[in-house]
Amino acid sequence: MKDIVMTAETTLSNLGLTAAELTGGTLKIHSPIDGSLLGEVPETPAAEMGAILAKSKAAFTAWRTVPAPRRGELIRLLGEELRAAKDDLGALVSWEAGKITSEGLGEVQEMIDICDFAVGLSRQLYGLTIASERPGHRMMETWHPAGPVGVITAFNFPVAVWSWNTALALVCGDPVIWKPSEKSPLTALACQKIFERAVARFGDAPEGLLQTLIGGADLGKALVESEDVPIISATGSTRMGRAVAPIVAARFGKCILELGGNNAMIVGPSADLEMAVRAIVFSAVGTAGQRCTTLRRLIVHNSIKDDLVARLKKAYSGLPIGNPLTDGTLIGPLIDEASGAAMTAALEAAKAEGGTVHGGARVTDRVPAGGVYMEPAIVEMPAQSETVKTETFAPILYVMGYDDFSGALEIQNNVPQGLSSCVFTLNMREAEQFLSAAGSDCGIANVNIGPSGAEIGGAFGGEKETGGGRESGSDAWKAYMRRQTNTVNYSAELPLAQGVKFDI
Ligand code: NAD
Repeated sequence: MKDIVMTAETTLSNLGLTAAELTGGTLKIHSPIDGSLLGEVPETPAAEMGAILAKSKAAFTAWRTVPAPRRGELIRLLGEELRAAKDDLGALVSWEAGKITSEGLGEVQEMIDICDFAVGLSRQLYGLTIASERPGHRMMETWHPAGPVGVITAFNFPVAVWSWNTALALVCGDPVIWKPSEKSPLTALACQKIFERAVARFGDAPEGLLQTLIGGADLGKALVESEDVPIISATGSTRMGRAVAPIVAARFGKCILELGGNNAMIVGPSADLEMAVRAIVFSAVGTAGQRCTTLRRLIVHNSIKDDLVARLKKAYSGLPIGNPLTDGTLIGPLIDEASGAAMTAALEAAKAEGGTVHGGARVTDRVPAGGVYMEPAIVEMPAQSETVKTETFAPILYVMGYDDFSGALEIQNNVPQGLSSCVFTLNMREAEQFLSAAGSDCGIANVNIGPSGAEIGGAFGGEKETGGGRESGSDAWKAYMRRQTNTVNYSAELPLAQGVKFDI
C-alpha cells in the first residue's frame, strides 16, 4: 500500500499542492481506495464570506466589460492547462473519488471539451432582432453578464461539473465562487491552481474570478443565502436541492439545480440484446453506480426477461472489482462506509418487498483494505416498490417485467426523479413513441444507448425532483446571463404600442 500512497503524494505535488497546504487543516481527506490520508486541508472560515463576496463583485464589475471573445481566450488557456494536467488531475480524481483510471481521465477530457465549446460560444452569445409593430422602430434582445455565480458540486463528478459551470459563466462575464463537496476538496484545490496558471498567462484578468471555498453544507448555505450571488448552480442530492431552492427563491435569485436521478432502460422484444447487455453493464456498474445518470431500473419485456437476466448475471460474474488505479479494474470502491451501508439497507428493503437479490455482498478479497468494495447487485422485483423509486447511490439494478409498451412507459415515468432514460428497440414505433410528447418525461431520452455518459454538446439536466436545471451545451449558457429587451426609435414620431393614444 505504501507505493500507492507515494503515488498520491506525487500526483498532488505535480498538481502544485504543497505539503504545507495539505497538512494541519481541519478537513481530513481519506482516499476511498484504501482509506489512506490524502491531506488535511483548512476550511474557509464563515467570517471570510463578506470579503469573498466583495472580491467577486469587484471582479464582476471589471470582467463584464471585457469583450466576450477575449473572455473566451482565458477559457482557451484553461483548456490548454487542463490538457497539460490531464494525467495528474485524472489520477487525483481516482484517488479522491475512487474512479477507475479511464473514468478519471474521461472526466478531465470532459473539462477540456467544455472549454473548447465555451471558446466558440464566446463569439456566439447571440441575441435577436424582433420586428416592431411601430414604424421606424427596431426591437432587440440582448444578453448581459448576470453577476457572481455560486457553484456547489457533488463528490462524484468532483471536477467536470465545476468546469461545465465555470467555462460558461466566465465567457458569459460572470465570476465564480465554488463550494466543492467536502468529500473532494483536493481536486478542487488542484483546479484552482490550474485556473490560476491560465490567469497568469492571460495577463490582465481581474483578481477573484474564481474563488474556492472549502467546507461543508453550512458554507454552502452561507453562499446560497447571499443576495450578492444572483445565480446558484447546485449539483447534488434532491435533499440538498430542497434546502437550497426555497432560500434562493425567497431572495428572487435564480437556481440551476442538478439533483438526483433514478434512470431507466426499457428493453423491447426486438432489442439487440448483445448491445443492450454492454450498455446495461457500463451504465449500471460504471463508477460503481455513483453517477447521477447510473442505470438503476431495467424494464424488460416479459418474453425476453429471463434470457436478459441470465446474460446479465453471467456478465456481472466476471467483472473485475478492485483498486481503480490497477489496469483492468472496472469497479472501484464506493465513496465511504455510509454508502456501503446504504446499499446493504436498500437490498434488505428490496428483499422485504419481494425482490430476489443476485450479488451485492461486500468484497474483501483481492481489494485494498480500508476501502468499501461491493459486488454490483441485480434485483428482480415483482413491482416498482418504494425502494425502487428511491435513488440509492450504489450499483443496484432493479429489474421489472412488462407486457405492453405503454405499461413500460408508465413504469419508466412513475418515479419522482426525471434525469435520464433510454429504450433499446429496433422497432421504430417504440423508439419514436419513447421520444414523443407522451413518452419519457426525463431531461435525457436515448435510443439504443444507455442513460449515462452524456456528451457536453447537449444540455444536461432533468425534470421533477432532478430540479429542472440545464448545464453544459446547447443554449444552457442563457442561464448565466440576464436577458434585456431593447426598443430603439429611429423615427421622428412617438407612436405608442397597441395603438394607444396619449396626446399632450
Ligand atoms: P450532497 O447533496 O450530499 O452534496 C452535494 C453538495 O451540496 C456538497 O457540496 C454539499 O456540501 C452541499 N450541500 C449539502 N447540503 C447543503 C445545503 N443545505 N446548502 C448548501 N449546500 C449544501 O450530494 P453528494 O453525495 O455529494 O452527491 C451525490 C448526489 O448528487 C446524488 O443524488 C446524485 O444523483 C447527485 N448528482 C446529480 C448530478 C446531476 O447533474 N443531476 C450530478 C452529480 C451528482
